[in-house]
Amino acid sequence: MGQVGILKSYEYDYERVLSDVDKLLSELDVLKNIKQSSFLVKTNLLKKNKPEDGVTTHPFVVEGVVRFLQSKGHSVIVGDSPGGPFNPVMLKSIYEASGISGIAERTGCSLNYDTSIVQVKPSEAKLINNLKLVKAFTEVDYVVSCAKLKTHTMMTYTGAVKNLFGMIPGVTKADYHLKMNDVNNFANMLIDVCDYVKPLFSVIDGIQAMEGDGPSSGDIRELGLLMAGESPYELDYVATGITGLLDSPVNTHAINRDLLDPEKIELYGLDINYLQVEPFRLPGSTHVNFMSGRIPEFVTHFLMEKIRPYPEVINKLCVGCGVCAANCPPKVISMINHKAVIDTTDCIRCFCCHELCPEKAIKVKRHPIHKMVFGK
Ligand code: SF4
Ligand code: SF4
Repeated sequence: MGQVGILKSYEYDYERVLSDVDKLLSELDVLKNIKQSSFLVKTNLLKKNKPEDGVTTHPFVVEGVVRFLQSKGHSVIVGDSPGGPFNPVMLKSIYEASGISGIAERTGCSLNYDTSIVQVKPSEAKLINNLKLVKAFTEVDYVVSCAKLKTHTMMTYTGAVKNLFGMIPGVTKADYHLKMNDVNNFANMLIDVCDYVKPLFSVIDGIQAMEGDGPSSGDIRELGLLMAGESPYELDYVATGITGLLDSPVNTHAINRDLLDPEKIELYGLDINYLQVEPFRLPGSTHVNFMSGRIPEFVTHFLMEKIRPYPEVINKLCVGCGVCAANCPPKVISMINHKAVIDTTDCIRCFCCHELCPEKAIKVKRHPIHKMVFGK
């Protein structure tokens, strides 16, 4: 078990963020004895958003990590496999929109444009025997998970561990959603991916975080924190502890799998006892079995299915781009008269459509009883 560092960093001021990231990473012991190596900085580039949208890892934070590694003599490539088609044209437009292209211009680091895929066999995985990964991501000595702190409609929270789901190429992610459509299985699959990738360390951009219906349609929350840690599980545990999102299924399963022991986390930097953070507003899709153990399981299952939130298209915002239909794992979205139409009967509630819609035209529809139980 290792260290987790936290620093106050109030705004995206270029010089300040670079200096804060440097301070944070200088304390991480795991980096001290690494000889010249190649690194992939896996940043969160969910879709084509500008830095100020609060969806992607801010480019100044990514640049801070790149500069720190370069200052130690390492070579760095920055990349991600965003949602949707994985090709060089799409990558270029997302690198430009998110401000990542500027990092390459200023630092000389590389950006990944190699979209070839490799299949690997994670020997210690709990759920997956075969894993498809972006080839370039497997050709470096070390990976860094450079994540954004956000709520997540399916997983409650996304940070260092969930960020690594982007090592799986483009629309292939849909297969994993389809096969692991239960939240617990999905959490274990994320852990399998993370455990295979084994990032050397992780960084979380929590300067501007996201609450509510994240990871793309929530509200920006000025948290003012930068965090780093050797273990992505420990880092996420601390981040969720600060933001009131500890019930994240990834935390639960990381503990169950002996990958996380909260007692053994060694904190440095800011003293979290002095941090006062209002708990983050949960995604509208939050769905836990509040009746579990009180009445028979089949009855609770039936009732919970009745009140389970589902995606709904806001017709006046839908521009008919088809992104949701192309990325829906069970293909239950049709395009009719240039509008998306969802057949919720076989919807697996992965909320990929909500996450990837560029127009925020898909909302999380909630049953009145769900609102009563979980709050507005
Ligand atoms: S709902 Fe969103 S993603 Fe789907 S077609 Fe409409 S605008 Fe595009
Ligand atoms: S309609 Fe949306 S939430 Fe339902 S399965 Fe498709 S992508 Fe997932």
